[in-house]
Amino acid sequence: MSAPTLVDFDDVVDRYDPVLGLEVHVELSTNTKMFCGCPTTFGAEPNTQVCPTCLGLPGSLPVVNRAAVEAAIRIGLALNCDIAPWGRFARKNYFYPDMPKNFQTSQYDEPIAVNGHLDVTLEDGTVVRVGIERAHMEEDTGKSLHVGGATGRIHGAEYSLLDYNRAGVPLIEIVTKMIPDTGARAPEVARAYVTALRDLIRSLGVSDVRMDQGSMRCDVNLSLSPKGSGILGTRSETKNVNSLRSVERAVRYEMTRHAGVLDAGEKVVQETRHFQEDTATTRSGRIKETSEDYRYFPEPDLVPIAPSPEWVEELRGTLPELPWERRARIQQEWQLSDAELRDLVNAGALDLVAATVEAGAPSGEARSWWVSYLAQQANTRGVALDELPITPAQVARVIELVSSGELNNKLARQVVDGVLEGEGEPDEVVAGRGLAVVSDDGALIAAVDEALAAQPDVAEKIRGGKVAAAGAIVGAVMKATRGQADAKRVRELIIERCGT
Ligand SMILES: [Zn+2]
Repeated sequence: MSAPTLVDFDDVVDRYDPVLGLEVHVELSTNTKMFCGCPTTFGAEPNTQVCPTCLGLPGSLPVVNRAAVEAAIRIGLALNCDIAPWGRFARKNYFYPDMPKNFQTSQYDEPIAVNGHLDVTLEDGTVVRVGIERAHMEEDTGKSLHVGGATGRIHGAEYSLLDYNRAGVPLIEIVTKMIPDTGARAPEVARAYVTALRDLIRSLGVSDVRMDQGSMRCDVNLSLSPKGSGILGTRSETKNVNSLRSVERAVRYEMTRHAGVLDAGEKVVQETRHFQEDTATTRSGRIKETSEDYRYFPEPDLVPIAPSPEWVEELRGTLPELPWERRARIQQEWQLSDAELRDLVNAGALDLVAATVEAGAPSGEARSWWVSYLAQQANTRGVALDELPITPAQVARVIELVSSGELNNKLARQVVDGVLEGEGEPDEVVAGRGLAVVSDDGALIAAVDEALAAQPDVAEKIRGGKVAAAGAIVGAVMKATRGQADAKRVRELIIERCGT
């Protein structure tokens, strides 16, 4: 297949309006599967977490998992959706080897939650309201492992193995309304939305939302409309994009690819595509089925879901502090400007600083450590801030050692370096590297006298009343003590020794 012609991104947004849609699948962390009692532990031996129901054996009957329905309703409420008072499951019929029943039990025209929204804050503080079309419940498929081919894909494989442990694990699929008017910011909006959704669902405690483990997966729908025309283009659907960065890159790539097709006077094919991590491109998958192809019909083996208003209100009462409520509270408690809060969020430091404060540190110091020195260290090492091998409790301890006078700022940075190098807890690094501040007057007086003797002209100035000149002596003493002197005490001693 020839490589597609790509149009320069700036040129694309000059002439086309991107229209985004995002479908996110979230695997719920319930103890058991959606319609049977099989456990859902990740990483178990293949085909050890299966039963006649999730294997689709004749005569088995499904039963809905109440915890999964509760989780779905709580997600719907947190997304400002209306909760449907009545709805059925539906069979989505298709043949695929990793789906033992040959249909997926899903929801079709009667989803549990509809018509909500999620407000998404971009890096510069712009808020974009993303409409939520629906959130519905369904079950996951099993996993195929293609063995023997070079690519790990079925093409060229010698044989394939199937693991049905995941078949029947509860999923929630959250579908946005079309997101128009994002222009050049479409890639950023897509990423910010998935980030906000991940944070929201994590706060609800219903999924571990790990994109790298597949417990959160994003499909990116994109089409281009000639600028100002209002005419919707044909969309492509890029499947299972599995990192936040990839979401952004998939949108960007598809915009440049669609424009290439349209500029050539051709039609965009409605199809699913697969994102390629290594090249940040997409490749064609299968021609997209329309919903008719799935021959949906109501699931006859399950009773309808009919949550009473009382139950829904009870569940609303279980919603925790949601991410945006938490951010507003923190902003007030720590007295941050909008920009300061945004910097913390954008640096990925908010949770780390909050945990450091929880471990006893004042917010100002905690913030300063994470967004300056530790951010630099993360940057140097090319890792995210939360991947640094130091915990908020350890940072809080370093801050405590500074405020008690046992460390000065320079030594504190060396202690942090030691923790990052794997030398143990802050106190162990202090002992191991011999970093405690020297405030023993005997040792300091000797160093002060030596420094004064070495710079008699400066000593004379101080004796003559030029106290400002003491800085040079403080510097010399700090150098002589390898930064371990208590600078404030050194200054006092200089003044004493000079008799001024
Ligand atoms: Zn089962």
